[in-house]
Amino acid sequence: MTTMIQTLGVSGTRFIPAAFVAVLGVTLITLTGHVQAAALHDAAHDVRHATGFPCH
Ligand SMILES: [Zn+2]
Repeated sequence: MTTMIQTLGVSGTRFIPAAFVAVLGVTLITLTGHVQAAALHDAAHDVRHATGFPCH
């Protein structure tokens, strides 16, 4: 009897991580597929300078 109760509880908690991963995947595909490469390069370059990482 306790096994049945536990499996019912797990199915509800698995939805949130699955939804998070789905949103993350769609975001990654959108960023890599639809954003201009120069815009990604400029953004990464700005982050390097803003964080003080040696660049050029
Ligand atoms: Zn730079």
